[in-house]
Amino acid sequence: MARKKIIVQKFGGSSVANIDRIKAVAKRIVETKTKDNNIAVVVSALGDTTDELEEMAFQINKTPPEREMDMLMSTGEQISCALLAMAVKTLGYDAISFTGKQVGIKTDTSHTKARIISITGDRIKKAHRENKIVIVAGYQGVTIDDDITTLGRGGSDLTAVALAQALKADVCEIYTDVTGIFTTDPRKVKEARKIKTITFEEMLEMASLGAQVMQARSIEVAKRFNIPIHVRSSFSKEEGTMIVKDTKKLEDVAVRGITNNKSEAKITIKAVPDKSGIAARIFTEISKSGANVDIIVQNVSHTKLTDISFTVPKSDLNKALTATKSIAQKIKAGEVTADDNIARVSIVGSGMRSHHGIAAQMFKTLADNKINIEMISTSEISISCIIDQKSVEKAVKALHQSFGLGK
Ligand code: ADP
Ligand code: ASP
Ligand code: MG
Repeated sequence: MARKKIIVQKFGGSSVANIDRIKAVAKRIVETKTKDNNIAVVVSALGDTTDELEEMAFQINKTPPEREMDMLMSTGEQISCALLAMAVKTLGYDAISFTGKQVGIKTDTSHTKARIISITGDRIKKAHRENKIVIVAGYQGVTIDDDITTLGRGGSDLTAVALAQALKADVCEIYTDVTGIFTTDPRKVKEARKIKTITFEEMLEMASLGAQVMQARSIEVAKRFNIPIHVRSSFSKEEGTMIVKDTKKLEDVAVRGITNNKSEAKITIKAVPDKSGIAARIFTEISKSGANVDIIVQNVSHTKLTDISFTVPKSDLNKALTATKSIAQKIKAGEVTADDNIARVSIVGSGMRSHHGIAAQMFKTLADNKINIEMISTSEISISCIIDQKSVEKAVKALHQSFGLGK
């Protein structure tokens, strides 16, 4: 008998936000099912369930214990996978739901952001031999000690890509509430255009810099194993965006997309003695606090004293600030200030490697719009500017237009 085609489909939270949508998703799944294929569906928690669970935990403890957090946060997906399996069965098709543990998703022990170590998928394979449609709870796994873990926010994308790899799937489809990957968030900028094909590299950069449509880590895995992903809408049949390794047909554009991110804060230490070894002492102390430092800017000193600014995720601000104040005192630096009203606006595109003047055009566009640049950071295929948060929408729109991305 010929090998059946294996299709992995992932439905995000908004696609299963209520009972009618769950029924619609079930219909969509059975429309794909034929006698010549097998389907494994990964599903997220209903609507905003995960946010609501997190909020409850925070009402009890501002820094909830991470193991218990995973026990809590993983429950959303158990609800949605059971309901979706019932909805599929109601349509006369055989279906079975599984948790991450039941399909053998083993992770390391880094609770709330665990990494997948291995997937056996045995029960999926058995269910497929019995011609069942399999529904898997996304975003979760278990450690070798059987403690439940979660894979970081947006982690159902990672479950889908990792399952596609483990099952050697022929197709990996990510169904969401927009019709694909756009040049910028289509909910914020109506001129945003759908991108037909984007490389893993560009998508990874866009996701890391704030385009929440795909979880960055899931793209890392897709890139490593070369798993093409089709991102499309669960509400329409329209073709979406293909995320692929490379394609010669990619248009010769310098900038593929614009992203923004409001989740960082900036810390500044004033009047830092300008001597060797000082930066090392400061950042060693901050790294010991567990805070993740990103962009760092040190001003030129004219007086043997200099200002140093850096960004951290807002969630790390408190611990970073405590550590910074303590080290500032020890090295006899000046005042330490924090600003959480910043935003990062970024342009992304692998064409930047071969186009000139892209940075200048970005800075000029921001300047023409009277937006002050506080910090700059670059990678091979992106440029980011830290600006005042209240200017971020204006900045995204202006850059989108300036780089000719609009309709
Ligand atoms: P899901 O619940 O399906 O996982 P998400 O909310 O995680 O969906 O991601 C989809 C959202 O991502 C869209 O509603 C859109 O507002 C947002 N988004 C941000 N940037 C982009 C982009 N460049 N292209 C498409 N969507 C984007
Ligand atoms: N429900 C989880 C979250 O909201 C995982 C996911 O939706 O991908 O982050
Ligand atoms: Mg998502």
